[in-house]
Amino acid sequence: DITLSDRVQTIKESPTLAVTARAGKLKAEGKDIIGLGAGEPDFDTPQHIKDAAKKAIDRGFTKYTPVAGIPGLKKAIVTKFKNQNGLEYTEKEVIVGVGGKQCIFNLALAVLNPGDEVIVPAPYWVSYADIALVAGAKPVIIQCGIEQGFKLLPAQLEAAITPKTKLFMINSPSNPTGSVYTLAELKALGEVLKKYPHVLVATDDMYEHVNLTGEKFYNILNATPELKPRCIVLNGVSKAYSMTGWRIGYAAGPAYIIKAMEILQSQSTSNPTSISQVAAQAALEGPQDCITPMVEAFIERHEYVVNRFNSMQGLNCIKAGGAFYAFPDARVAISNLFKAGKISTENDMALSEYLLEKVGVAVVPGSAFGAEGYFRISFATSMENLVNALDRIDSALSV
Ligand code: PLP
Repeated sequence: DITLSDRVQTIKESPTLAVTARAGKLKAEGKDIIGLGAGEPDFDTPQHIKDAAKKAIDRGFTKYTPVAGIPGLKKAIVTKFKNQNGLEYTEKEVIVGVGGKQCIFNLALAVLNPGDEVIVPAPYWVSYADIALVAGAKPVIIQCGIEQGFKLLPAQLEAAITPKTKLFMINSPSNPTGSVYTLAELKALGEVLKKYPHVLVATDDMYEHVNLTGEKFYNILNATPELKPRCIVLNGVSKAYSMTGWRIGYAAGPAYIIKAMEILQSQSTSNPTSISQVAAQAALEGPQDCITPMVEAFIERHEYVVNRFNSMQGLNCIKAGGAFYAFPDARVAISNLFKAGKISTENDMALSEYLLEKVGVAVVPGSAFGAEGYFRISFATSMENLVNALDRIDSALSV
């Protein structure tokens, strides 16, 4: 075989997609599997968004568009940032990508050099570390366990910053923990960052609208506006409007960085799908109350899941502020199963394997998110599935 690039050999397939694929395969083989791995809402895309896309097809809006997005969508993004987030951007300071993931990928390729360090608080969304690696940079993982609400402390941030630090990633509400930073916590992190002007800050606000508490949403730029010349705000329509398959995300930041991301995009995907852009514009400009029933369902399921997990042997689960994930601490459960001889290695991979094999429930091990000893479930699935899956996990953990 021809040798693969060093670049591709430093990374792995997204573990959440891998778990989802494995569960799908077992299901196709006729096994009774409940998949709690996938990170996508279980609702259909709202009708008015689909209608906008259908109209776009019918009027022949099926050709290349400007690489960084159609003017109408860019304008809608600028308006969204102003009205919902109190952030002022011009159209030159925003870019539309093929999902939030492409925006992060392009950001990494646009700013990182080999040897640069990227500070990533763990538990982290699986792709941050691997995207940094693709760019040749070094992810610097900081452990933020359940005892600190899975949130980075200012002293930890300060201790991690070196002259080589190029980028700091923050994600609130968080995938996989659902943790949400308060304005005061963000301000405290912002105070640290103010002292280190060589550090670029990226805030991933993908779960902004999956708000389980009703508390007002803030990102680090709201908390510390002085960071604006070196801050990138990442967001998208995938989670808010149940549009994961449409592949539209967006970013806002200093024009020179956005331009660099556009140049990269012009040499990879070119524009995001024309039809999806029209749909995303309809999502941002249309009635926002289509989000409410989804969030109400997530709130109800969240309540149920957290209570159930906390009633199970060896699990400890804290409440989430946003997103649709629960991230129980399973260290005691893992130790119990190991001592009882039910798993042969004392780690979260063995636990996940055991849950899949023994009771047919697919979860994602915490180590995929840089946090050994935990696991993630998505509650973006029906209550019926959740009741069934949690009954099964409960019985599997009873030793
Ligand atoms: N950021 C976070 C924290 C996510 O969980 C995801 C998706 O799982 C994304 C970004 C990317 O979403 P998409 O590429 O579908 O827009």
